[in-house]
Amino acid sequence: MPIDPTLPYDDNNIFAKILRGEIPSTKVYEDEWAFAFEDINPQAEVHTLVIPKGRYVSWDDFSARASDEEIGGFVRAVGKVARDKGLVEPGYRMMANIGAHGGQEVPHLHVHIFGGQPLGPMIAR
Ligand code: 5GP
Repeated sequence: MPIDPTLPYDDNNIFAKILRGEIPSTKVYEDEWAFAFEDINPQAEVHTLVIPKGRYVSWDDFSARASDEEIGGFVRAVGKVARDKGLVEPGYRMMANIGAHGGQEVPHLHVHIFGGQPLGPMIAR
């Protein structure tokens, strides 16, 4: 079920548990600001999730409350994961679902990175 992204942050969300190491994930990358892991239910040949280490519900929440350092670190991590996966050529897609209309299911900011195949139209109609 899509969630209402209204604060406060829920420390029991599944990605918070992954960050704390309470449930397993297939790690792709980690630094001071970000953690990247493979999506459990991939929608493309490559489907990787990148999340900030801080307690942010969505891109909206992150852009409003995170420090410039956190934002810079996270944005750089997303780009690094895409480069390290060899996606720059022939291209890839990044997506962040936010709130009910965006179809967000997990209330911790995550950027999806899709690639490894042509990705079709931008939005389902
Ligand atoms: P959203 O719909 O919130 O943008 O995306 C949530 C994503 O998290 C989905 O693509 C879903 O497959 C993924 N996901 C949900 N639970 C888990 C989990 O426990 N582990 C991993 N690796 N991915 C998960």
